[in-house]
Amino acid sequence: MKTVLVSLLLAAVSAAADSKPLVIAHRGASGYLPEHTLEAKAYAHALGAHYIEQDLVLTKDNVPVVLHDIHLDTTTDVARRFPGRARVDGRFYAIDFTLAEVKQLIVSERFNAKTGAPVYPERYPSGASPAEFRVSTLEEELQLIAGLNRATGRTAGIYPELKQPKWHRAQGRDLAKAVLPILARHGYATKADACFLQCFELAEVRRLRTELGWQGRLIMLIGGGAKGEDGTDFAAICTPAGLQDLAKIADGIGPAIGRVVTWPAAGAAPKFTDLVAHAQTAKLAVHPYTVRRDDLPRNCPSIDALHAALLRDARVDGVFTDFTDVTLAWLKR
Ligand code: CA
Repeated sequence: MKTVLVSLLLAAVSAAADSKPLVIAHRGASGYLPEHTLEAKAYAHALGAHYIEQDLVLTKDNVPVVLHDIHLDTTTDVARRFPGRARVDGRFYAIDFTLAEVKQLIVSERFNAKTGAPVYPERYPSGASPAEFRVSTLEEELQLIAGLNRATGRTAGIYPELKQPKWHRAQGRDLAKAVLPILARHGYATKADACFLQCFELAEVRRLRTELGWQGRLIMLIGGGAKGEDGTDFAAICTPAGLQDLAKIADGIGPAIGRVVTWPAAGAAPKFTDLVAHAQTAKLAVHPYTVRRDDLPRNCPSIDALHAALLRDARVDGVFTDFTDVTLAWLKR
């Protein structure tokens, strides 16, 4: 009896994480709280996100922390707290700071490091906040999500991204080798686990699958330009042959929205590419990024129109969204 109950529960749990299309909380509920803080992750879970994203970089002492950039200066007070610790380019790199130092930083809404102006002025206020948001480690965030999954009885999956592995290697570090054991320890290792591992670098995606033996699901991110930072040829990947080839190692793609749909002019109908059809023919899932109501694609009239184009017309398999609740509400309607 107990076994039956447990399997029923497990079935319900995996159904929740794998309901289609997937709503992926981009950097957490980043439309409402500073990105990648535990607060933003807890709120994303509460809003009902199917998956919650973690961008990962290494500290000086090789600890994977949850940060979108290899730099600390656009989301924390590092420049004030550690003046003189910038590199010659004026940037403060997470890899130059120990975890103990990173933990001293206060996280705020993303801002322009030169002007101090918030990137999204309508979001959580950046100055004078009494809340002391902090950078968290991957380990801490996985513990939080596991705790919430248990306490709520609803499983939210995880969606970790290896940020700039080639750059990390140039610094003498191996990001993937630091991250994979932590994922395995938390039960994320196979395609049955509620986890998608993602990366913008094709060489790293290939290495994860072959050399490093990652058996879980794997998503190739595809930027809007022709090439990635490491030289990955995005245009070649997006051809039917490129996608067939990718399908040998990856389970899906995470393309910039503009690779799926654009609005040629104000008031014009959306124009769709063949990318989703070609990807789905190759049996690749498609999870475009990023739905933002305060930063819509050029000429897109509303977030409703964006949701309709991606989820109803292009029939993608999931979306990255800064506004989990708005995306879920659209799906419900
Ligand atoms: Ca990301």
